[in-house]
Amino acid sequence: MSVPLPETHKAVRLYPADLSIHVESIPTPKIEHPDDAIVKVKVCVFIGSDSIKDSNISLGLQLSGLCGSDLHGYRGHEKINNIVVTGHEFIGEVVALGSSYSPDATDRPPLYSTLHIGDKVVSPFTSSCAECHFCRIGFTSRCAHQLLFGSEELSGGQAQYVCVPRAGGTLFIVALAPSSSAPSATSVPQQSQPLSNLTDSSLLLLADILPTGVFAALQALQHPNILPVIRGERFPLASVGGLVFPRDKCESMVESASGEGTGGLRDLLLDSLWPGMGSEDRVLTIAVIGLGPVGVCATIALLDFLSALRVRYRLVAIDTVEARRENILAVYDALPASVRNRDSEFAVDSPDNAIRFVQDSTDGIGCNAVLESPLVCIRRPPVPFTGRELYAKNVAAVFGRCPVRAVFPLAADLLRRRQDVFGGVGSGAGAGVERIVGLDNAPEAYAKFAKNEWGKVAFDPWN
Ligand SMILES: [Zn+2]
Ligand SMILES: [Zn+2]
Repeated sequence: MSVPLPETHKAVRLYPADLSIHVESIPTPKIEHPDDAIVKVKVCVFIGSDSIKDSNISLGLQLSGLCGSDLHGYRGHEKINNIVVTGHEFIGEVVALGSSYSPDATDRPPLYSTLHIGDKVVSPFTSSCAECHFCRIGFTSRCAHQLLFGSEELSGGQAQYVCVPRAGGTLFIVALAPSSSAPSATSVPQQSQPLSNLTDSSLLLLADILPTGVFAALQALQHPNILPVIRGERFPLASVGGLVFPRDKCESMVESASGEGTGGLRDLLLDSLWPGMGSEDRVLTIAVIGLGPVGVCATIALLDFLSALRVRYRLVAIDTVEARRENILAVYDALPASVRNRDSEFAVDSPDNAIRFVQDSTDGIGCNAVLESPLVCIRRPPVPFTGRELYAKNVAAVFGRCPVRAVFPLAADLLRRRQDVFGGVGSGAGAGVERIVGLDNAPEAYAKFAKNEWGKVAFDPWN
């Protein structure tokens, strides 16, 4: 199944010899495996002034993004041996499907029977099968068959067309094709429908940076070392104790075990001799270091989740760049009062001031969690701390690539609810795409993005 495709298309390519960026005409990708889909990273209709940054109206725009991760190869931090079609963030329209896609493919992940030509989709930056152990438990970024877009193994999305392997496990529908939006397409996830009203520059955040920010926030808030403060129960009651031995279940167990004279393990864990936890211990102190696009998304996710958890917090957003500190303050101001918890503190500081602020406000205790988005372990290996240092403070360090496909529903819900900060291009609260340029501007965009002169850039490959 396919609409007619041209012989060649335009793509951004990184050359390994001198790490130069070229925009070239190359053969259009074709279906090579039955599970493949071809996505058209598609047409742009831009309404506004000559200055792209000043306009925040877009229509029918389908885009690919330029991300900090794209710079790893460009800066030579990741060695490449072959020419690479760059880019791992794109949205577009399905224009060709392999033979695996059929209404009868009900023994495969749902998209194999529901994905149609013309559906508008967003892709995670890695492909995933949805059928292996890692996918089934939600760690799609470690799929046994995963490939990274924009790498030597898989051509990227800074192009007019892109081939998506195992697309039935990889893609996420954000709007149905007009012909397939009939009631028969009921198996398309309900949460995708409200997304069809969002701008493409906003939807582009789903490809990487927003799920990655959400993932960082979840890694912190779900951690067993954090749960005591959130739940108001000391360790380990708040973690395993609370899950395996919930209070109501244990009370009934104790009642039914009459005659034994003692309670269950839960009673032992409750330990009536232990002092209670007061309100002074129920304030989470969290620092977010690095306020680039992912750090901004992580901060918004934290504020949103913490407001839902009704937990008091002290959140410190940290960056060396003043413009980024001003930006996060504008983002915070744009959030509704329901998210800005009046019982809590939100501070924005330079690294030195932030250390003093945390020391003073916690009486020297420090942070419960620190989120660090510039990926210190990737940029400056080896990691700048030792096992002994972690041991000495009972620090748990969690790393890892975001399982974007698994986090999509949560991130999509946050994107829909937080359009106050994620909507528009170059709008006041810069949580989203700063500017949109044509694919031919890729060499300049890479150069300026690498020097921090430009923020989040999206390419319109048809401009
Ligand atoms: Zn990215
Ligand atoms: Zn898999």
